[in-house]
Amino acid sequence: MKTHALAADVGGTNIRAALVDRQGAMSHRVSVPTMAHLGRDASVRRVLEALEGVLANAEPGSVVGAGLSVAGPTDPKTGVMHNPPNLPGWDGFTIVPLVEEKLALQTSVANDATLAALSEHSYGAGRGYRHVLYVTVSTGIGGGMVVDGKLYAGGRGLAGEIGHMVIVPGGPECNCGGRGCLEALSSGTAVARIARERLQAGDVSAILDLAGGRPEQVTAPVVVEAARAGDTTAQSIISESSANLGIGFANLILAFDPEVIVIGGGMSESLDLLLPGVLGRIDTYAAQYLSGRPPIVKSALGDDVGLLGAAALAFESHDGSSPRG
Ligand SMILES: [Zn+2]
Repeated sequence: MKTHALAADVGGTNIRAALVDRQGAMSHRVSVPTMAHLGRDASVRRVLEALEGVLANAEPGSVVGAGLSVAGPTDPKTGVMHNPPNLPGWDGFTIVPLVEEKLALQTSVANDATLAALSEHSYGAGRGYRHVLYVTVSTGIGGGMVVDGKLYAGGRGLAGEIGHMVIVPGGPECNCGGRGCLEALSSGTAVARIARERLQAGDVSAILDLAGGRPEQVTAPVVVEAARAGDTTAQSIISESSANLGIGFANLILAFDPEVIVIGGGMSESLDLLLPGVLGRIDTYAAQYLSGRPPIVKSALGDDVGLLGAAALAFESHDGSSPRG
């Protein structure tokens, strides 16, 4: 009986790997630095070594295959990546044949945010639902979808790039080169930028004190802390960014009618502060057409979401359905 998946979460900072069983229990976990700045060959070698080290602990014949969650747009049919911002040298590259040759295991690869949706559906806050929308609100904004119990990747595997939906045409510049994207309005990076702009414009706010008097030290957690302490500038920044997030969610709800929306990433720690703005816009722009709105809940898996998603992908590729599909 094949009971385990060999899983890896390949981020720009760390590579995590583990054996994962069908219930999501992990064993033989390792975490090593990616050393992405040393180039592709060095980071690929570290992924292979981590996987090989973990696999050595498995019972012979017990592993269904390898699943990898990678940071950047990825075609899950081929594993070919498209311009990953945090894995220099991986553009147009697939690690799949290297892993298959080294470990003699069927290997599947997909984008981390896409896999987070599968992960939450299989093991986390999306359990029991067949249609799950996952949104990570962190340095950037990304997402993934499980439709009818299966990962939805789109025609080229690039579905879920929801951070670059335009919410305010001609709005603030985004990392992607566009303007007014959701990511440029509602990510943690955007919250910090808006706060610095308000301070520069002369707003008097506790944000500056909490940042030690240095505008360049303003981060999203600082803005959240100030908002919780009652600072009106911080509260209006959170209100504005959460309202824009709500417009994005309203559009996604109208397009996909998810049964649940799961929020991950650093900003999900402040979901209670974001919800009033988010729900207000959903009610204005979507709920009236759809007789209500889906529950919006915080990720249940935290830092393990990538590893568990990679495992769920390996099981899905082997079995034809997700472990709890
Ligand atoms: Zn963008």
